Amino acid sequence: MTAQAAESRELAAVIGLEVHVQLETETKIFCGCSTESSEEPNTNTCPVCLGLPGALPVVNEGAVEAAVKVGKAIDADIPEETTFHRKNYYYPDLPKNFQITQYDAPICQDGELEFAVEGDRRAVDIRRAHLEEDPGSIKHVRDGSGPLESRTTSIERADYTLVDYNRAGTPLMEIVTEPDFRAPGEVRAFLEKLEEVLEYLGVFDATRDGSLRIDANLSMVNADAVGEDGHIDDEVLEAANRTEVKNISSHKGAEKALAFEESRQRKLVQSGRAVEQETRHFNETHGNTVSMRSKEEEKDYRYFREADIPPLQVSGWKDEIAIPELPDARRERFVAEYGLSDEAASKLTSTKQVADFFESVAEQFDADLAATWVADNLLGELNYRDMSITDIDDRFEEVTRLVELVDEDEITAKNAHETVLREMLDKGEDPDTVVEREGLGKTSGDAVQGAVEEAIAENPDTVSDYYDGEDNALNFLVGQVMQKTGGSADPGEVNGLLREELAE
Ligand code: ADP
Ligand code: MG
Ligand code: ZN
Repeated sequence: MTAQAAESRELAAVIGLEVHVQLETETKIFCGCSTESSEEPNTNTCPVCLGLPGALPVVNEGAVEAAVKVGKAIDADIPEETTFHRKNYYYPDLPKNFQITQYDAPICQDGELEFAVEGDRRAVDIRRAHLEEDPGSIKHVRDGSGPLESRTTSIERADYTLVDYNRAGTPLMEIVTEPDFRAPGEVRAFLEKLEEVLEYLGVFDATRDGSLRIDANLSMVNADAVGEDGHIDDEVLEAANRTEVKNISSHKGAEKALAFEESRQRKLVQSGRAVEQETRHFNETHGNTVSMRSKEEEKDYRYFREADIPPLQVSGWKDEIAIPELPDARRERFVAEYGLSDEAASKLTSTKQVADFFESVAEQFDADLAATWVADNLLGELNYRDMSITDIDDRFEEVTRLVELVDEDEITAKNAHETVLREMLDKGEDPDTVVEREGLGKTSGDAVQGAVEEAIAENPDTVSDYYDGEDNALNFLVGQVMQKTGGSADPGEVNGLLREELAE
């Protein structure tokens, strides 16, 4: 094709993901070593995860249960029997020179995940999700003095490389989607949803370093190959040269890397050049991708059955494994059961911990009051402090006590939020202590009456304005009384008292 013809082509991006998620288990997938991260390298290791001769792997029941939960959450087929394979390649982080993974009988097949992009519902098919072991981690280091961290560098500049097998054997689930994404933004929304579901299931910890790693595949096809429902024929997908950007560690990173890759490939095609089928690396700081190597193929890995692990029967077992109510279902229930807006329900179901917290508060108070306090006040203040609900899960009683003080009209909602809640979070105090110290108990009766009389005596001009029918005069006097009572009087009550007093 001539460059001119190429230029006039309308192109569409096609994207598919391979997402590696670390499953939260106490021990590794094939041995009893701890999965806790450790500062000291090579301490959580044993003959199995170091790949010493004669050591035999034993499958961790917890990892299989976690994988079944994921399978149920994405509505996947879980076969009667699942098997493990060896994927052979040499790399220093892989002590056995092969990785135990799954091949033709993965634990989950044909799933689906729904998510929302800018208000639209989208669904992406999950081709498969399989179990495998994580390799160890390596660090390239430059000679010199000073702490190791300051001397870590790229492979090209390194004088030597250190390897730490603490991570080797950590259970991973690799989730492979169909190439159903049409834009980088969709990928980000999908990843957010995936993480939310995994956290609901209790099988994943997003705060753990490197717990989510993404390989993102992208190719460009003729826009007219995309059907109205977004469908693209398999022949077109197979013919399109694609790149795989490896090892992206964040949602935002995935979106950025793909946006870069889309524009890079578009320019190539439009200038009549070919896209190389290759593996690329995403440089987070520069926001670009660079070529790493031509893409390896399946046959390069010499897959064969892991004879040390017999086929695993999961058919009977999987029925006993239950999963909790998932975010979508819970959000819909919150709208129906508590009469919340969709927006409030979404906020309140953003994590399982928030949703549980809200439901416990809503058991004791009116749902609207509970929603305002959890969704707006509490989450807002936590967010501002870079905290999350899990940081205060042992202070549930204190939060409900605060809501009770508002509910029983002991303090104003404004003081409760802007003073008590903030002091509770900043100083770790309980609400009654703050109310007492700051004198926030609502002032009523005599004290308010006294302040009203004072305000009238001190502001004769405003009083005459009031009699002249000037609207703002009363507001001004209310403000004066509120000031005198340190904001602890009820504005409605003050208003009434002023009118009475001025009517005499
Ligand atoms: P491989 O065998 O090379 O790993 P797969 O067919 O298993 O390739 O697919 C790997 C990933 O590539 C999947 O996430 C899939 O969605 C994605 N993919 C397949 N075809 C395309 C394409 N034409 N453009 C972008 N991604 C694709
Ligand atoms: Mg692959
Ligand atoms: Zn071990």
